[in-house]
Amino acid sequence: MSDQTIRKLKTHSFIYTVWLCLVILELFPFNPHVWTCLSLQSTLRISPPLPYLASNMQKDLLRLGSRLDPQDSSSPLTPPPSASPASSTVSRRWRTGSPWPGTDVLDQPDDAFSIEREARLHRQAAAVNEATFTWSGQLPPRSNKDPLYSCKVFLGGVPWDITEAGLINTFSGYGPLTVEWPGKDGKHPRCPPKGYVYLVFENEKSVRALLHACTLDPFHPDDNREYYFKMSSRRMRCKDVQVIPWVISDSNYVRCPAQRLDPSKTVFVGALHGMLNAEALASIMNDLFGGVMYAGIDTDKHKYPIGSGRVTFNNQRSYLKAVCAAFVEIKTPKFTKKVQIDPYLEDSMCQVCLRQPGPFFCRDQACFKYYCRSCWHWRHSMDILSNHRPLMRNQKNRDSS
Ligand SMILES: [Zn+2]
Ligand SMILES: [Zn+2]
Repeated sequence: MSDQTIRKLKTHSFIYTVWLCLVILELFPFNPHVWTCLSLQSTLRISPPLPYLASNMQKDLLRLGSRLDPQDSSSPLTPPPSASPASSTVSRRWRTGSPWPGTDVLDQPDDAFSIEREARLHRQAAAVNEATFTWSGQLPPRSNKDPLYSCKVFLGGVPWDITEAGLINTFSGYGPLTVEWPGKDGKHPRCPPKGYVYLVFENEKSVRALLHACTLDPFHPDDNREYYFKMSSRRMRCKDVQVIPWVISDSNYVRCPAQRLDPSKTVFVGALHGMLNAEALASIMNDLFGGVMYAGIDTDKHKYPIGSGRVTFNNQRSYLKAVCAAFVEIKTPKFTKKVQIDPYLEDSMCQVCLRQPGPFFCRDQACFKYYCRSCWHWRHSMDILSNHRPLMRNQKNRDSS
């Protein structure tokens, strides 16, 4: 091939390249949308869903590991380190670019109420689950010399045909009062269906007067009194009705004063017996798990117990031991009761997406975290985690205490 032929070929190939470029420019002008799409696609390819989720999961496991360390005092409820601007950019990109895995599929109306239902069911779990620990013994002696009572008292074993008018008639001699029982404003307006009622007096001195009129069970010592009141209805004469008052100072017991109470080392105790006061609860939990700083009994607006309480530990090990125990049987000469222990829940953001409120808590050690609805479903769509059950704060307790 001569030099001239080569030069001609080079010129032709140059012209051909220029022509090709012009054709491309004609076909694909610099349309900003096209370029955004292209760059978005490339970003998506650079950061696919799995690596992000996997790295987040790894972080979770690391945090869980640190949580299980008894020496570690860091709260699992503090915002995790992934809240940094860099990772929030990633998650924002996820919201607009590619869908969060399964959000659309899993957030079906069918699932919408199942978390709440499961959480409600869990509150009655003590009835069907075996206790892992049993405590038996005498409750600590009461030392209330001049107690201040709640204006509300419990009456157990009332005549089956007693009516509101009958109750008011019987007890108004001690002072003005109202009467409450389950279903009074609904299904059971006439008679208390379960044989018990609450009396709510206007003044505390009415409670003292009523107790004064009661007979004391001679088999119980002074510090664990049982009060009985003889009452009659149309069909029953002189029935012994048990009166259970509540001493207001029994709602709180501090074992270690002047120490900060850490919500992340606090357990919620449900299905409590009405005769268990805070001091007894603290003493039982301390015998079983050690390190109890504080115990509190949840009460309603009349400062009367509602059947749940809280216990705060001074170390992570005792806290986790209590959470793992889950169900504890308490045996005293007066009663036997299986109580239920769960982590004490606070208002928290979802600890996975960090964007939504996280009202659902998974108490399983593999999770131990607050979730929003989407993240709960996403996390528990994995087969091995599908048996996890959610906890929610009890709205009723929060409002009334
Ligand atoms: Zn979330
Ligand atoms: Zn879980």
